[in-house]
Amino acid sequence: MSAGTHSLSLRERALGAYFGLAVGDALGAPVEFMTPTEIQYAHGTLRHMIGGGWLRLKPGQITDDTQMSLHLGRALIAHGGWDARAAAEEWAAWWRSHPIDIGNTCRRGILRFIKQGSLSGPPSEGEGGNGAAMRILPLALATLHDEAHFVAAAIEQAHVTHHHPLSDAATVALGCMVQQLLNGRGMAASRTLADDLVARHPQFRFEPYPGRASGYIVDTVQTVLHGFFTTASFEDCLVTVVNRGEDADTTGAIVGMLAGATYGVTAIPAAWLKKLERNVANEIETQVDALLSLAHHAAPETSL
Ligand code: MN
Ligand code: MN
Repeated sequence: MSAGTHSLSLRERALGAYFGLAVGDALGAPVEFMTPTEIQYAHGTLRHMIGGGWLRLKPGQITDDTQMSLHLGRALIAHGGWDARAAAEEWAAWWRSHPIDIGNTCRRGILRFIKQGSLSGPPSEGEGGNGAAMRILPLALATLHDEAHFVAAAIEQAHVTHHHPLSDAATVALGCMVQQLLNGRGMAASRTLADDLVARHPQFRFEPYPGRASGYIVDTVQTVLHGFFTTASFEDCLVTVVNRGEDADTTGAIVGMLAGATYGVTAIPAAWLKKLERNVANEIETQVDALLSLAHHAAPETSL
């Protein structure tokens, strides 16, 4: 870690993680589904909030990655903690609001909940996308001091839409990594968790970098972890990852969460933060305080 990150407060790290998620989503979304060569040809190295892309976004506009996180955050806050049904109902409300984008696996899971009330489908080969991992942050914040509760709840939240062993493993590992970073344990602790993930599921090996950044959870995790561990600032990390293209908003969102928790909210370029929609920025700030307060009140006494 660079000098200065050791003195960050939990709130600065948590704001960094949540704003990092939104900024990564908004930075990457205009180049979603492009190859690195296409990005280079169209934009040079992408390092500004340009808007556009296949969704014709305004500069700084967020997509489903941030929206599903915000809805999960609302469910956690309204319910006073994790409840799978409360989360599914929030995502159903989001689906009914005609979101600008929604992944196929997320849509299928939400529709199954709406039609059958079911909070999990059977395990499916086709559900190895990154949709469960991309929205994990609010749960990681709300259960910050209780890792066992986090792990159990993370798998329940994943299964509402994605029931796949590699999605489960990545969702839990990324959530535990962000919790360690929020608790100030630094990149070395995350590296241990990343190495554990690779030891259990060698598919996730990210060194040497295999070079794919698609929505398949393996490609996503490799791009996120390689970008995170080979850069030393929030900006370099995000620029490196979104310029890999493919599912650039989602890789950007996930790595933005990790980098924001590492370097803190003040390390996020002001020009990027300023482009976020005001109502999104306001809700992120409100949720960070409410979720940290939930974590504090839910903490087992041994960890206080
Ligand atoms: Mn998206
Ligand atoms: Mn995406």
